[in-house]
Parts: sequence; C-alpha cells; structure tokens
Amino acid sequence: MPDDRSHVDGARVLADLNTLRGIGAYKTGVHKPTFSEPHMRSLEWLAERLSEAGLTAAIDGIGNVLGTSSKPGPKLLAGSHLESQNFAGWLDGPLGVVYALEAARIINPDPGVSGAVEVAAWCDEEGHFGHFLGSRSYVGAVTDADIDAARDRSSGRTMRDALRDAGLAGRLRATAETGRHIGYLEAHIEQGEILESSGHSIGVVTSIVGIWQYRIAFSGEQNHAGTTRMEVRRDAGLALAKFCVAIDDRFPALCGPRTVWTTGRITLDPGAPSIIPGRAEMLFQIRDDDPGVIDRLENALRSMAADVSAQGRCNVAVERVRNGTPAMMDAKFQRAIEAAAAIFAGGRFVRMPSGAGHDAQVLATIMPAGMLFVPSIGGVSHHWSENTDDADIVTGAQVFVEACRRLLVARAAPDSSR
Ligand SMILES: [Zn+2]
Repeated sequence: MPDDRSHVDGARVLADLNTLRGIGAYKTGVHKPTFSEPHMRSLEWLAERLSEAGLTAAIDGIGNVLGTSSKPGPKLLAGSHLESQNFAGWLDGPLGVVYALEAARIINPDPGVSGAVEVAAWCDEEGHFGHFLGSRSYVGAVTDADIDAARDRSSGRTMRDALRDAGLAGRLRATAETGRHIGYLEAHIEQGEILESSGHSIGVVTSIVGIWQYRIAFSGEQNHAGTTRMEVRRDAGLALAKFCVAIDDRFPALCGPRTVWTTGRITLDPGAPSIIPGRAEMLFQIRDDDPGVIDRLENALRSMAADVSAQGRCNVAVERVRNGTPAMMDAKFQRAIEAAAAIFAGGRFVRMPSGAGHDAQVLATIMPAGMLFVPSIGGVSHHWSENTDDADIVTGAQVFVEACRRLLVARAAPDSSR
C-alpha cells in the first residue's frame, strides 16, 4: 500500500485550470497580459478559492496574491503566476498556482500534518512590465522608483497607471517574513520536449540556468558593393556570419551537457543592399548552470575574436553585457519530489535543469526552493496551442501535493529539520 495520504482531487484540479482558461480565452489558450481585465479577474478568482480553503487571501500593491494560514507549525510557500504572454497557453503559470491551491486544500485541514501550505500567485512573471517584479517585490528587491519607471512593453502604459486602473494603487506590497517559510515549491510545464521524448512524467529541477549575454561588434570598412574587389573588402557582415559558424564548430567540445547558445539579433551597418557593411553587431546568449562552463566558453569567444582581429580584415570586440546567476534548487526539495514521484509517477522522473527563468529563482535568493515539471506536448509553450495530457496534469498534482506533505512532515519531525 503506497504512502498515499495526499488524496488529490484530479477532477477538481482540471476543472479549476479550465475555469482559468475560460477567463481571457483565446483559441485553446489565453490572452492575459499583466493587469488586463482577465488577469485581474483571475487574481480575484484565486483569492476567493483561497478563502474557501481557509487561507487569509489578499492582492497586494504590486498584484501578488498571497494566501496565508494561521495553522501552527511550519509553513511551505507554493505557487506560480496567473498572467500569460500575449495570445499564449493556458497552463504556463496557472498549473503551479492550482497545484498550490490543491495542496492547501488537502494538507491544511489534515490533522496528521503539522503546518500548512501558503499560496502565492506572483505578478508579472512573464515580464510585461519588467523582470519578475512580483516575486522580486516579495523578496525586497524592488523599489518604488523601480515601479515608477516600469512600463508595459507592448503599450507603453506606465505601471503606476496600470496599478491605479486595476484598483491596487496605494496598497502595501507584501514582503517575506524572515523565518516564516521552510521554503518555496513551484510546479510548471516543462516548455521543452525532454520529458515527452524520454517517456518521463515528472522533471525534478536541479537548477534554473543563468543567462550570460554578449555584444560582439565587428568593424571593417564600409564601401561600394559594386566597385570594391572581393580581395580588398573588409566586410564586417561576412566576418560576423563566419564567427557564428565558428562558434557552432568550437563550442560542442567545450560546453556542458545542457548548455545552449543563441545569436538572437544581428545588425549590419548601414544595412543596405549596395553597401558593404562597415560595422556589424550580434547579441549572443549562453545559458548554463555552471559558471565554470561559461568561463571556458567565454575564453573561447575571446580567443576566436583575437584570431579574427589578427587576420587584419576586421576587428572583433567581445563585451559581456549580462552576468548569469544560476539558482540551485535545494537538495532536500529534490529528494521530496523524487520520493513523491516514486509513489505517484511510477518512478518515471528525471533530474534536469530549467532552461527557462521562473519565480523560484527569485525565491531561492531568500529561502530553499524546489521545482517540478510536467511534460509539454510537443515541447510547445508561449503559444496558444500549448498543452499537457490531462493524465500528466493529475499525476503532477499528486506528486506536488505529496512533496509538500513530505517537506512539512520532515520539518515538523524532531530530528530531521536539516
Ligand atoms: Zn511561467
């Protein structure tokens, strides 16, 4: 008989997710930008469900929903986000919020568990106005001046105007109470195809990768595309294209098992069909959870740039413009998820880093944090067709709630607090 005291109501989890899908529906997904009417309605819907579950629920001055418990004993914080990218999927965010709600419904009334699950929906994880503003506000990393300066990246509307229109102006922003929580647990769709293609139903997140970004500038000589002989050209655009290919040749021998790199933007100057580009620039990004790997790759970039410059046609300058900070997930949280997955997912779990950013990386700066993934069909996300099998959604809920229960029970037990 498995240790299955976490009796998840799978039909209720699916019904809640579908209710949220119905608020701001777009095709089979949703369109719920931060502070839009459907986003605010989703926050209010959540606050009502949290109250029904016996939590004290409030929407704070930056649009975070927090449900807190007066039950004695340790508290575990759990959640995700409710806004979406524009015209995007129904599960990116709501999945983790509904799992956290279900965990509170099941665990908090259970007299066999000392302590409670508290629930959060972090505002603007999707970055319409900034960079993890809701969770960063909660950990004390957002100033009023940051909010004054924030604008909707699509409409240009200021965050102050959006907060006022949403009825949140003047409300206090909730911040973490030191020592209140034993940690933070978040579930999310994988947004990739590792789980689906390997036949696993749970991803145990080991880390959330850091993002390092580089501006690589090429300078050659601008000249006439018709009269300048090939032998004498100093074509910065061509040098850039060759550099991209050289990166792809060189990096595989130096990178880690899950390193990814992307040239996301290329600009040619002046960018005209009859002019040899005199300058070219690429924005290049590397993601990994190991700064040692990044050191190797960055050294390779710089030596390749020096080689091209030494050839004399074009000068190449590599500038690091963003420093990654990988967030390591807590080992105890990973073990709790694995133990829960052994029971409810038939052991079909795999450890993996997250290549995408999540609020858990922000919470991890002040408390132990963990994350679990469920499979994304076809690896699709940030698109309205994003989906996960109902069976995988229910399995994920069972594993999540059981992991919450184990973390609380372990903390309440006399000798296992560390
Ligand atoms: Zn998300």
